[in-house]
Amino acid sequence: MEKTKQTRLDELKKECLNCQKCELGKTRTNVVFSDGNPETAKAVLIGEAPGENEDLTGTPFVGRAGKLLNEFLEKAGISREKDLYIINTVKCRPPKNRVPEKEEKKQCENYLMEQIDTISPKIIIFCGATALKSFSDSKTPISKIRGQIMDIEVKGKKYKGIPIFHPSFLLRKHSLEPGEPRDLMLKDLKNIKSLINE
Ligand code: SF4
Repeated sequence: MEKTKQTRLDELKKECLNCQKCELGKTRTNVVFSDGNPETAKAVLIGEAPGENEDLTGTPFVGRAGKLLNEFLEKAGISREKDLYIINTVKCRPPKNRVPEKEEKKQCENYLMEQIDTISPKIIIFCGATALKSFSDSKTPISKIRGQIMDIEVKGKKYKGIPIFHPSFLLRKHSLEPGEPRDLMLKDLKNIKSLINE
């Protein structure tokens, strides 16, 4: 009998909770595996790495940046609980919130790819440059490439991908004027909402 998405992910999570494949395993409080409903999610949203609040709670995007992301999702009509499956490129917090190193991302990559393959989403959302770099060699800054649909391959399957700003960047950008980062973020999320409803 074919395993349900939840069963596949439960097995993967069990493995991940005991993982010590990279140095980040030594300093984490909790493995931050995912958030969202795998059975209803139409998009996978990938962030960089857990921060302090995520490490303490074991849930991605729950700090200030996560709260801002929630506000944008609500404005765009996207349900965090129903439409998204949220993950990070690495599952354990890098000390002092530094960017994850290449080797750490490489060691953690299998979990990321398995999660995407299991969900098999309509679209993959890359939240910030680190998430995008795990899938694309593009050197173009996020500010130039955000909102553009790209072709992505994961475990032999083709997906649509779209980079967006990371909400932590938007914490420092307050303007709501047309063309400013917050306005562009909302446009990108509204576009994603249309794509997942197609
Ligand atoms: S970051 Fe990933 S590879 Fe490293 S210990 Fe945590 S789960 Fe394992």
